[in-house]
Amino acid sequence: MTSVEHMKWWGWGVEGVAFEHSNKPDFAPFVKQAVGLDLRKPAQAHLSFDELTVPASRASEEFIAELSTLVGQGHVTTDDQERVVHTYGKSIRDLLRIRANDLPRTPDLVVYPADEAEVASVVAAAVAADAVIIPFGGGTNIAGSLDPQPTEERVIISLDLGRLDRVLSIDEGSGLATIQAGAQGPSIEAQLGAKGWTMGHFPDSFTHSTLGGWVATRSSGMQSDKYGDIADITKGLRMVRPNGIVAIRPVPSASTGPSVREMIIGSEGRLGIITEVTVQVHRTPAVREVLGYFFPTWEAGLAAMHEIAESDASPSVTRVSNARESGFSLATRKASTGVSAQVTKGLMKVLTARGWDLEQLCLSFIGYEGSASHVRYEKGLVGSIVRKHGGIGVGKGPGALYDQKKFDTPYLRDFLLDRGAAADVSETAAPWSRLQEVYDAANDAANAAYDKLGVHGWIMCHLSHSYHSGACLYFTFAFITGDDPIGEYEQVKSAIQQSFVDHGGTLSHHHAVGVEHSPWMEQDISTEGVAIMRGLFDSADPGSNFNPGKIL
Ligand code: FAD
Repeated sequence: MTSVEHMKWWGWGVEGVAFEHSNKPDFAPFVKQAVGLDLRKPAQAHLSFDELTVPASRASEEFIAELSTLVGQGHVTTDDQERVVHTYGKSIRDLLRIRANDLPRTPDLVVYPADEAEVASVVAAAVAADAVIIPFGGGTNIAGSLDPQPTEERVIISLDLGRLDRVLSIDEGSGLATIQAGAQGPSIEAQLGAKGWTMGHFPDSFTHSTLGGWVATRSSGMQSDKYGDIADITKGLRMVRPNGIVAIRPVPSASTGPSVREMIIGSEGRLGIITEVTVQVHRTPAVREVLGYFFPTWEAGLAAMHEIAESDASPSVTRVSNARESGFSLATRKASTGVSAQVTKGLMKVLTARGWDLEQLCLSFIGYEGSASHVRYEKGLVGSIVRKHGGIGVGKGPGALYDQKKFDTPYLRDFLLDRGAAADVSETAAPWSRLQEVYDAANDAANAAYDKLGVHGWIMCHLSHSYHSGACLYFTFAFITGDDPIGEYEQVKSAIQQSFVDHGGTLSHHHAVGVEHSPWMEQDISTEGVAIMRGLFDSADPGSNFNPGKIL
């Protein structure tokens, strides 16, 4: 039997880990004020797996037997729980659907190939049988990138890359590592780290997402300011297609027509199965620090991030939260006692004396990596820019806490869902000159949608990545759901997405398109842009066998 482990079917992460607020005294009052949710009320139990109605597998015994000869007994399964786990990603829409027993169509079988040759044989057999193939990495996408089409009559195979999980080689002279596509974040960093290297790609979903998934969704990590987005990190790759392998050699740059490498990055399984990726890697830095800063207002924080992006400084993380998100972060702190409580109190007094409105305070994290002298130099440079914009450094404590806790936050969504509130995210990127406009428009759009629904909703934001020409804004929104949670969610989500494209932002900076974002593609990349992309998909996949319906 296959040894690939998956997240739980009903939520994020592993069983037995959950968000806990009893040790965070400010959290319950915060949630009450933000969305009107009373945490004293008991959580609602979600369905048990036995209560789900799982459609029967449509795969014939002959087809299962054929695939089993290709990948070995135990690596093809029609097990209900396996098929449910492979049906959706982890967006709030996915979680709401699964909790509502909304499973109109699941994959009919899950196949676990061991290597590229087995992937190729499964693809050939699937296309010959006119089956649908949906590649599966970690199942963490939040754009509906895995959804089987509800009306699909053909057999659907979920092709799980989980057994392809090795770093194959490191070209030490070039700083290039060739890694199998199914490897998950912790495994990649452990294998590279053992030899003194890092890839530097740390999305918030790092613990459960895969290299192939990152490439197929154009992912971005919290240290992308230094290491680049996955599109920058990916230098070469191999992708299985029905008639052969696309092999893009790892070269630093190329002038060989429109980039096929770029066509594959973000293709969400529509062009074939990525089996191997050659990525740029870096020596593990001698020093790594994330420092906390406070800014008096969002505008001041934004201006400081802009100036840092234009300066000689090259921090690994640049992040500033608006006042609402800063309030949220402070509310999720554990109870502080003794000296630390006194220091916090003292600092707040000083800031008030300086004329700060603490309701407007914005929390920022800036990360530094490299040699001790480089980090010292960078901190000096950033510190002077922060001060110029009225900010102050608050030391290593908050940054270290953020660094430790960043992968725990996703569990909060399940906690809120159990209590009747939906929380999700929308992110965009826009030029610096339009960033504030996009910010205002998204806030206004969400609040107008909440008014229309008659709910007390919440929206907060942080700047998560900076570039020379602009930045990524990342919005989190939450509200107590009513009779039609998915319909209500779609109203709020659509309003925010529409505001992005109306005000110069992209539909998505790093969460891909799937089915959730596809309605806006034409507005984002133009009618002719869509025509080119459609031509690519139609000609590369005339039988619509590869994850049909995603992106366009
Ligand atoms: P999956 O979800 O399994 O698949 C995603 C898409 O890629 C599907 O269309 C699938 O068919 C295709 N695919 C997967 N593997 C292959 C392959 N080998 N060949 C071809 N196609 C393939 N994203 C970020 O970029 N940055 C973040 O910080 C971030 N934080 C997140 C936090 C949370 C809590 C959650 C739930 C999601 C977050 N995401 C983030 C989104 C998600 O983690 C990314 O989209 C991720 O890249 C998906 O990788 P995966 O391995 O889970 O892919």
